[in-house]
Amino acid sequence: MEKEKVVSYKTCPLCEATCGLEIHTVGKNVVDIRGDKLDPLSKGYLCPKGYSLKELHDDPDRIRKPMIREGTVWREVSWTEAFREAAKGLRSVREKYGSSSLGVYIGNPSAHTLAGQLYFSQLVRSLGTKNVFSASTMDQVPKHLAAELMFGDVINIPVPDIDRTDYLMIIGANPLVSNGSMMTAPNMRKRIKDLQNRGGKLVVIDPVKTITAQQADVHHMIRPGTDALFLLGIVHTLFKEELISIERLAHYVNGVEEVRKAASDFSPEEVSSLCEIEADDIRKVARDLASSPKAAVYGRMGTCTQSFGTVTTWLINVINTLTGNLDREGGVMFTNPATGGVTASSKRRKEGSIHFGRFHSRTRSVPEVLGELPVNTMADEIENPGDGQVKALLTFAGNPALSAPNSKRLQKALGQLDFMVSIDIYLNETTRNANVIFPAPSPLEKAHYDLALYKFSVRNISNYSKSVFSLPSDMPDEWEIILHLMAELSDEDLEKDPVEALDTNLITAMVKKEVSRTGSPIFEYEAVKILEELSGRKGPSRLLDFLIRVGPYGDHFGRNPGGLTLAYLEEHPHGVDLGPLKPRIPEVLLTPSGKVELAPELIVRDIERLRQKCADGKSKFMLIGRRDLRSNNSWMHNLEGLVKGKERCTLWLHTKDAQQLGLSNGERVKVISRTGELQAAAEINDNIMPGVISLPHGWGHQLSGTRIETASKHAGVNMNILTDDLETDLSGNAVLNGIPVVLEPILN
Ligand code: SF4
Repeated sequence: MEKEKVVSYKTCPLCEATCGLEIHTVGKNVVDIRGDKLDPLSKGYLCPKGYSLKELHDDPDRIRKPMIREGTVWREVSWTEAFREAAKGLRSVREKYGSSSLGVYIGNPSAHTLAGQLYFSQLVRSLGTKNVFSASTMDQVPKHLAAELMFGDVINIPVPDIDRTDYLMIIGANPLVSNGSMMTAPNMRKRIKDLQNRGGKLVVIDPVKTITAQQADVHHMIRPGTDALFLLGIVHTLFKEELISIERLAHYVNGVEEVRKAASDFSPEEVSSLCEIEADDIRKVARDLASSPKAAVYGRMGTCTQSFGTVTTWLINVINTLTGNLDREGGVMFTNPATGGVTASSKRRKEGSIHFGRFHSRTRSVPEVLGELPVNTMADEIENPGDGQVKALLTFAGNPALSAPNSKRLQKALGQLDFMVSIDIYLNETTRNANVIFPAPSPLEKAHYDLALYKFSVRNISNYSKSVFSLPSDMPDEWEIILHLMAELSDEDLEKDPVEALDTNLITAMVKKEVSRTGSPIFEYEAVKILEELSGRKGPSRLLDFLIRVGPYGDHFGRNPGGLTLAYLEEHPHGVDLGPLKPRIPEVLLTPSGKVELAPELIVRDIERLRQKCADGKSKFMLIGRRDLRSNNSWMHNLEGLVKGKERCTLWLHTKDAQQLGLSNGERVKVISRTGELQAAAEINDNIMPGVISLPHGWGHQLSGTRIETASKHAGVNMNILTDDLETDLSGNAVLNGIPVVLEPILN
């Protein structure tokens, strides 16, 4: 009998856009993937990566059984043996060298899984180590630090109200490729077209005429690393021409005068030659931002992963505030996610208490941020002997061997570890160093809810998807793998079923905390009754049900009849639209003053470093990264559908530069930085600014000992051989853009 075709609805877990997908299956086979037209946010949109979920699920290289490495040989083993071996290795290191000898690296995909969001942090906490690193410090940490200092909480990051704005300025971001980042907004091409069709304007500031810039009404090329100067020029103009408009929020803003002073030396004329944008153009942008009824400034990877990521992010927030666009329709707004986030009952942070600098790294005394150490110092902590040296590493869904700055050094350091355990779907450039690998389930075998990304969505959305396929009978779910490892490493006397015991402990602790929190919608409820109501579920679905029910739209366990529950979401597989963003000041402000702190001292002080850097002069060539719609950092290059076609890992450079160097298209050129050198094929391209070169991020798959055959055939070169682990932003974030380099043509 022919098997029936089944259509399941699934939020795509691959990037921040959270597109709704229709997954068409027959038996265990995916036969088609389409955009879900009824998804309230993506409305049928999907990109090539979303379509590639089928290939990812079927990829023969994807790890499906736990593996143990003996020398250079990998052996598939049972789950029991893998857990035993992992625990033995990690325990032995911990007993010999102490808790901090266990390091942890958390990769970017962990932000897209329920297990990563709800359980992995529990495991990390239980290890009691300070040596925790993650992809966040190569990504968005400046956003969190600026948000905490200005608005009181690390997730208080305003997002452009893109569907209602009249004027959008994008700086250092390419949302037509990323589909929004720290701004959950699928189908950016259409959203921008809609903006222009309603008479609005898109202005892009970027050293490259990216595909986003190609759709813009105005594009200004900017010298990498000078975004803060350009923005200071705008702030200067706003004050000088009396274009400030903060009457609506005046009562809620501190520090306007300090900002004026901070920008007083940075006239458009002063910054123009450094950022290479005409002074009149800077003034025009300032005037347009101030005069547009609704305007928003948005910056992302290019503004975060550079030497002045926090200052730049701060200035974006400052401009949105000074032009009256903070917390208003069509400006930048705070999302109100269904699973909580900052709510009216959240406590203000105490004076001086921020998630930064609470401890420092051992080797270079680098400040902690968000409870982690910057990835820039991970190699130091592995290489340098002494108390607290990282001797064993646990990685979760990450590939820092390719994605971290000065990656050759880190690759070598990873090889020096005494022991390593990875939870991953591939044997890649990082996990090849592991002693034990636990395979994570395929995305189609997991339930999904975008806990992290709905916090930055351009509409309030709640969407839960069940798994499309059940797990193989002998395979634990991702959260069970994490709890199993946690149990194996615990010195507590756990019950017969330790995974269940840990899971129950976790939900019990969450419920008890919430019922005793003043202002909670379930304040003074009996914890035991809440736990009873949740008892039909376990794992992430139980935690998620709880978070939704106590969230701002939840049923509050009876106190808000008709409110949201996970059961309701299960009955609405396309997702639930909770409406457009609404103004949230003052409830969202959690600074000690309860106001927007427009001039946080820590950030304003960093302007001095910016001044000094400007005085240091320019390098002839600066390297920047680039992204592609068919790429997702380093981890999707093993899918033929995404890597086929014209070679993408080429070195972009401008015609004038190519002529000076005597280079023709396709010829190889040597690129040298402080940390290393590589050779790449030149792609001469007038979409890039003269003096700037670009290589894509996440390539370099030629290392031995991996099992990613397709990726190895399209290896490319690793730009992070050239990025420098000694360069950091104030927040500790890595610098992946604006790297001074020297180019040397390779003579035949
Ligand atoms: S844009 Fe992102 S979420 Fe949407 S289909 Fe592509 S990868 Fe998936």
